Amino acid sequence: MDKERKLIIAGNWKMNKTVAESLDLANGLVRELKDVTEVDIAICPPFTALAAVSEIVIDSNIRLGAQNMSQNGYGAHTGEIAAGMLKEFSAKYVILGHSERRQYQRESDELVAAKAKAAHEAGLKPIVCVGEQLEDRESGRTEEVVGSQIRGSLAGLTTDQMEGTVVAYEPVWAIGTGKTATTGQAQEVHAFIRNLLGEIFDEDTARHVRIQYGGSVKPGNARELMGQPDVDGALVGGASLDARNFSEIILNSICQTKHEIMSILIGILTTVLVLNCFFLVLLILIQLPKKESGSGLAFGGGAMDMALGAGAGNVLTQLTKVSASLFLLLCLVLAIIGNPGKTAATQVQAEVTDKVDDVLTGAAETPAPTTPEAATPSLTPEKPAETPAAPPEGGEKK
Ligand code: PEP
Repeated sequence: MDKERKLIIAGNWKMNKTVAESLDLANGLVRELKDVTEVDIAICPPFTALAAVSEIVIDSNIRLGAQNMSQNGYGAHTGEIAAGMLKEFSAKYVILGHSERRQYQRESDELVAAKAKAAHEAGLKPIVCVGEQLEDRESGRTEEVVGSQIRGSLAGLTTDQMEGTVVAYEPVWAIGTGKTATTGQAQEVHAFIRNLLGEIFDEDTARHVRIQYGGSVKPGNARELMGQPDVDGALVGGASLDARNFSEIILNSICQTKHEIMSILIGILTTVLVLNCFFLVLLILIQLPKKESGSGLAFGGGAMDMALGAGAGNVLTQLTKVSASLFLLLCLVLAIIGNPGKTAATQVQAEVTDKVDDVLTGAAETPAPTTPEAATPSLTPEKPAETPAAPPEGGEKK
């Protein structure tokens, strides 16, 4: 699959990590991901760690993002952070309208749209989150809800601003629950969002907008999710708090592209190998001694002599030599590049680790159903709380 949009994978650290812990995590990511150029990477620490993390990532391929900002400029807005303040730390992205803010801070589409506009005016790229609640999906209202959030939260953006906006589709029932939307469910809603953007803005703009998936993305499911035609990256919560997990999500998503290139290459080489085999056998048969020609002679010493060039140096024996050499070379190349051992083992290992994590966190479920109706998760998501529950002392709420 040829995606014209570069993947963007962002880590949302939420209200986790002290400054010291943030530095550890950022240093680990810079080390692990220093060679990655195929994916845009962003990390969004809490406000308190932006300054420190900024110094770590400033010369790296990792960009900085914030988790929220005010729709207002500088001024009398106690407790708020203006876009210009985020720019001081060289922030490039800002997450807006995350479902937790929509639920707990009652952020409306209108407010998110005002923030998105202010972000662009300050030179920040907003990551605008949308997503349905479990009951919306169960009552078949996913498109209605997501459609209305898209129209409301992106209202007033110019086409240029829309192109520079990242949309994150995050089904609320999949956030922090260990439940991931099936690839089919994710692709269906992403395609719906892209079509809608085409209607609201224009086809060209819609084609360029990157749409991330968010909701329990892990190393084991990243490749499959990001292999969907309209899934252009991920917004990762819990798994972004660990350098190894977040790095694996990114590395596995790159493997997707490499994997496809390899498959095409292996297909071409195998075809050439098969054609060459026919050609080689033909050459050997043509050169068989007229008398006493039996299969033993054809595939025994006589043929080997021909193939290895012991015969006379005419055109046929030269061709046979070339063809035999090509045969050996292709076998060798295919044996090397066609060996999926390491990649497959890494993927299986990631999936097993995810399953173990799920069991340990009590989130293990029956295998993912294939139809959207059947796929509705049985796990009841947290009801919007008036006052968010405090995480356990010293613990991280992912
Ligand atoms: C999120 O908070 O944006 C998110 C997707 O969280 P998680 O990956 O933990 O589900």
